Amino acid sequence: MSRLLIQNGTIVTGDDQFAADVFVIGEKIHAIGPELGRRFAVPPDELVDATGCYVFPGGIDAHTHMELPLKTTTSSDTFASGTGAALIGGTTTILDFANQIPGKTLKSAVKDWHAKANGKALCDYGFHVSVTDFNERTRREIAECVDEGITSFKTFMAYKGALMIDDRQMLEIMEEVKIQKGLVLTHAENGDLIDHLVEKFRKAGSLSPKFHPLSRPVIAEAEACSRIIDLARFADCPLYIVHLSSQSGLQRLAPALETGTEQRRSGKSEKPRAPIIAETCPQYLLLDDSVYSQRGFEGAKYVLSPPLRKASDQKHLWAGLGSGMIKVVATDHCAFTSAQRRLGVKDFSKIPNGVPGVEHRMELLYSEGVHKGRLSLQQFVNITSTNPARIFGLHPQKGAIHAGADADLVVFDPNEEHVISSKTHHMNCDYSVYEGVPVTGACRMTILRGKVVVRRGKLLAPAGYGKYLPRQKFEY
Ligand SMILES: [Zn+2]
Repeated sequence: MSRLLIQNGTIVTGDDQFAADVFVIGEKIHAIGPELGRRFAVPPDELVDATGCYVFPGGIDAHTHMELPLKTTTSSDTFASGTGAALIGGTTTILDFANQIPGKTLKSAVKDWHAKANGKALCDYGFHVSVTDFNERTRREIAECVDEGITSFKTFMAYKGALMIDDRQMLEIMEEVKIQKGLVLTHAENGDLIDHLVEKFRKAGSLSPKFHPLSRPVIAEAEACSRIIDLARFADCPLYIVHLSSQSGLQRLAPALETGTEQRRSGKSEKPRAPIIAETCPQYLLLDDSVYSQRGFEGAKYVLSPPLRKASDQKHLWAGLGSGMIKVVATDHCAFTSAQRRLGVKDFSKIPNGVPGVEHRMELLYSEGVHKGRLSLQQFVNITSTNPARIFGLHPQKGAIHAGADADLVVFDPNEEHVISSKTHHMNCDYSVYEGVPVTGACRMTILRGKVVVRRGKLLAPAGYGKYLPRQKFEY
């Protein structure tokens, strides 16, 4: 088995940081401690000098869409290209969404996603399954998914006629997922309200990209957040709200997020209530809705749902991360090229939704979060790695630096400056929504299960190196 020694770095975990070496044998961390090099008679096969660098646990991006088929097109990053970009940016694990096709089974969705990823993904991966057509057969399949290590179930309160389910179906899914010890993930936007506004704009001939955010106002998210908490509380089912975008949404969630923590901490209740967890994305922390007024069709690059909000919303999302109310930053990576965007050149509602971002999550969060004083190093590690590992049943194998864990590590230079550009990124997309954004801090090396898979921006992972990760049940 290969032996790798990382020397002279500062190890950062979710609750600590200290100067130490990391010794890796095969795929696992073998030992952590000072001057480990002296303890071994035979020198390691590979020596990494991490002087001046942090050593972080590999990033976990809990929300991606590789090769996602929509009605008219498919998201442009494949499992090969998207996971390569992830590794370059320090993300060693992704959780992608296997979407049920209405009329078909969850099993067939999972089978399709295995076929896309198996032998092609370069980073490790697991799946959530999106339940878009709930019926008795689907109910029975939930237990089967959990047995196969797919323990999180995505539901949509928007996209009526395609992905959306109604409140009764939502409740029934929650009841079953609770029994099977899984987690419900929800896209919280009021689909009827949105459909009504889209129709109104179309009838009025208001068809340019700037009408996309106007058709999905903040109230659509806020209302759906309120409703979904009530449903989850009623069913006593653990709930994870994906891609929270606004201050109003956070305000509606806040009592549920805080109560959950306090109750568990105080130990007042014999059996804690099912937790409610929130995720946001770099685009909501760093971009705002002024981009939609760019000339011509330029605003189409930023069409995603929920849409970008006001600059003032960003402050509240950062504060939510700082206070621990928002536990995870994932990307909702869903790339479409400029040519694909043009499917909606005559009608904003036909622009494929989503932005690319899997490559830049760690560096952007470090630069805008830690470097600018909004987050501590521990918060950064929790938000990008340890929390998603715990929530999605990958801990302590992933998201941690300790003997016995997978050797998924990022050697990170906190001082290296660079500028994000589509000319240098590795995602399969001809533009970047972060074009020209200056970043302080860079991934110098990414190690996945003991293998150096990226060195100074160069991808070294062998084809198909990524491994499927069955996940544990949701414990609370
Ligand atoms: Zn998504």
